[in-house]
Amino acid sequence: QADLAMHEAKEAGRNTLRFFDQEMQAAAFARSELEAQIRHALQEEQFHLYYQAQLDWHGRVTGAEALVRWRHPQRGVVLPGEFIPLAEDTGMILQLGHTILKRACKQLAEWSARAESAQLDIAVNISARQFQHASFVDQVMDVLAQSGANPGKLRLELTESMLVENIDDTIEKMNRLREFGVRFSLDDFGTGYSSLLYLKRMPIEYLKIDQSFVRDILNDPNDAAIVRTIISLGKSLNLGIIAEGVELEAQRKYLEHYGCSLYQGYLFSHPLPPDEFEAFLLSRHHRDGPA
Ligand code: C2E
Ligand code: MG
Ligand code: MG
Ligand code: MG
Repeated sequence: QADLAMHEAKEAGRNTLRFFDQEMQAAAFARSELEAQIRHALQEEQFHLYYQAQLDWHGRVTGAEALVRWRHPQRGVVLPGEFIPLAEDTGMILQLGHTILKRACKQLAEWSARAESAQLDIAVNISARQFQHASFVDQVMDVLAQSGANPGKLRLELTESMLVENIDDTIEKMNRLREFGVRFSLDDFGTGYSSLLYLKRMPIEYLKIDQSFVRDILNDPNDAAIVRTIISLGKSLNLGIIAEGVELEAQRKYLEHYGCSLYQGYLFSHPLPPDEFEAFLLSRHHRDGPA
């Protein structure tokens, strides 16, 4: 009986092992497949930046967040949630991130040269692996120099979790870029770990309230309380506040009442290709008032 049990256990173990092996192989295959696809897509220039407007409380467009889209020949427009995490796993994010930064800075230089868009800032999302790379600061400075973009109009969006890794190193990197003129926003604020101590030590200009809090601001008293707390925290630390995911006029009003600085969301505009963003900008110039 004991022998039999032993035998069964061994069999089960072997099967588990075999199963696990196959699964790992499949995952490894999928990863290298995707890596090859991303490399190919980079060569074919299938990654494009869309721009989503950010507005102040007068309803003026002050800038745009660059959001990457993969225009896949078969699959159509693929959203970043489907490839950014995988690009991070494979390391392809370094090349992709560099391409994104170059594209955004080129756009910034172009917009700065035209009267109707001269004042715009561009915000660029930076992934952890990209930020933690030893040459990140040099890379940003090189891209800025080569594009001729004004560093003071580039805002890098970092997330809380990537800042707590190597605090001293992180602060040094941020300070070097800040001295060069580059500014920072803390993205998805409230969803990660944040120590208020770091917030104070880091050269951050804006906190971005995550859209998960904004979504239910009108119905969920807890979310509303969190949003009010983030706004008042921002005010006391002398930071601006950007609300993302603003879809309703009533949400905008609520945020405005508590003193939110900038607004971003479908209420104003979806992320748009550059030419459509420019058309949106012109249409805003011909009207007054918020939203
Ligand atoms: P995020 O930086 O928090 O960007 C905000 C996301 O909210 C965007 O999704 C945007 O399209 C979406 N959004 C904006 N307004 C609304 C709204 O009113 N309602 C709703 N439901 N959603 C809204 P997207 O473009 O799919 O990007 C998702 C995430 O992918 C971004 O979150 C960011 O973390 C990452 N990502 C996007 N572009 C890049 C990039 O160029 N580089 C890196 N490293 N990450 C990127
Ligand atoms: Mg962002
Ligand atoms: Mg965000
Ligand atoms: Mg978010």
